[in-house]
Amino acid sequence: MREPYRVAEAGLPERVTVYEVGPRDGLQNEPVMVPVEIKAEFIARLAAAGHRVIEATSFVRPGWVPQLADAAELLAGLDRVPGVRYPVLVPNERGLDRALEHGVQEIAIFGSATETFAGRNLNRTLESQFEMFEPVVARALGHGLRVRAYLSMCFGDPWEGPTPIGQVVAVGRRLLDLGCFELSLGDTTGVGTPGHVTALVEAFGGPSRLAVHFHDTYGQALVNTLAALRAGVTVVDASTGGIGGCPYAESATGNLATEDLVWMLHGLGVETGLDLESLVETSTWLAAELGRPSPSRVVRALGAGRAPDRHVKE
Ligand code: MG
Repeated sequence: MREPYRVAEAGLPERVTVYEVGPRDGLQNEPVMVPVEIKAEFIARLAAAGHRVIEATSFVRPGWVPQLADAAELLAGLDRVPGVRYPVLVPNERGLDRALEHGVQEIAIFGSATETFAGRNLNRTLESQFEMFEPVVARALGHGLRVRAYLSMCFGDPWEGPTPIGQVVAVGRRLLDLGCFELSLGDTTGVGTPGHVTALVEAFGGPSRLAVHFHDTYGQALVNTLAALRAGVTVVDASTGGIGGCPYAESATGNLATEDLVWMLHGLGVETGLDLESLVETSTWLAAELGRPSPSRVVRALGAGRAPDRHVKE
């Protein structure tokens, strides 16, 4: 399979952890119900491709996300590979109870950087969301779990416009101060641009404990990722095949595709531990299961049936 030419850029991290969200953030927005066996195979393929952190599913109320209503069954049958983390999204204490029942060792909570999205996505205010998170994180830490925090709408909000950077930092710091080991800065509607990324990381005082979660809605996900790397961020969320988005946010399509990210990182000489060919094969397989082509540019360029240099001759 074709590989990117490797030309390193000085000042970038040597290695980046790709936090794979396809089985959760990717599948949760898919209209076709995916059988639990296919989800388990998807996760197994991701681990075989070299992923060391795969967000497996979600314990939100099944009525909210019918696609992930099989979370317990999936976890019960999951063939866990040693050294691979399988975090699960947990919204509240009931979700934490279920995660604990199923031997989950890492959870992720999700907060909002804006008032309107806190109301729409969490049925809380910007302030009262913490009343929901505090007992979840405290109890999870008490059980020895690791807790990641997502923060949505870090760049802009479709109802409120640009999100003030100081507000993002204030909410994000409170999530970290609860004891979360990592804060994933989400550009839920994909409106961010690179200078905004740089300014936001700087406003946090640097990249420590920050991850980034970009959406490609406006075609900015990769360039925003590069800005984050230049600012020192070493954890990047991505979804194999570019599937998914957010079902509760207007026009929040287009998770950054893992393959597109890996093509750029390997081209930059940044190690990921991931095998691009295996990822493309997995996305091609999954696209057939979902009944639609992968939105990933790299999957389309390298996917099954492509002659090696066909696009050059056309
Ligand atoms: Mg996403």
